[in-house]
Amino acid sequence: MKKTFCKTALVLLLGLMAMPVMAQFNLKKAVSGVTKAAKAVTLTDEQMTEYVKEYIDWMDANNPVCADDSPYTLRLNKLTEGLSDADGIPLNFKVYYVTDVNAFACADGSVRVFSSLMDIMTDEELLGVIGHEVGHVAHRDSKKSFRTALLTSALKDGVSSKGGKAAALTDSQLGDLGEALVNARYSQKQERDADDYGYEFLKKAGKNPWAMAMSFQRLKELQGEQKTDKLNQLFSTHPDLDARIERMAERATSEGIEKPETKE
Ligand SMILES: [Zn+2]
Repeated sequence: MKKTFCKTALVLLLGLMAMPVMAQFNLKKAVSGVTKAAKAVTLTDEQMTEYVKEYIDWMDANNPVCADDSPYTLRLNKLTEGLSDADGIPLNFKVYYVTDVNAFACADGSVRVFSSLMDIMTDEELLGVIGHEVGHVAHRDSKKSFRTALLTSALKDGVSSKGGKAAALTDSQLGDLGEALVNARYSQKQERDADDYGYEFLKKAGKNPWAMAMSFQRLKELQGEQKTDKLNQLFSTHPDLDARIERMAERATSEGIEKPETKE
């Protein structure tokens, strides 16, 4: 990737020296051409897999991951028991010991739950969040948004069009990528479909699918008592809580499933 980019820069530089008057216009045109070419480039599935792995490895290396014997890890392991894969994508779970209240799932099936979210949610509520996030993985929403984020942030300056190995990303590129991913938005349909997937996913694993409605209800309460912006992310990426609570509650009711007791 570096080689291709340097060569392009060199060609532009030579053009600039030969025709100083036209240079600026040509340069702009050439630069916009480069950007377009980069965006049109097809990333192979293999390259995507490598970039996703690079990203999640970086996240795990740059966030405090709870140890295997930490109460957070033990609790998460227990409550995700039997949640093995999202439509064929194997899942793995870790807890980040951080103050932000969030959880996310990566396209490769890596689910990361933040300790501060675990502090304020019951097991059912956490399962609802996890079920929904896993829905995005199963529907390949996570993969599509990763691809978009990759091309518009980390690889915006160009990507090798040749097949083969993905280039190693720098720390700053990975930072840009993280930001683009955090700001990724899904359509209402994608959100509803992820809810439906989460519902089925939990039910199939022998968990009570009321977790979905209960989780959104809790998010709504938290939104009401929100004092810091630590929660903003989780809410801004998950709008229409009322409608979603209703849909999930109606579905569980119509299937005759009893709502678990809430321990307050
Ligand atoms: Zn979502």
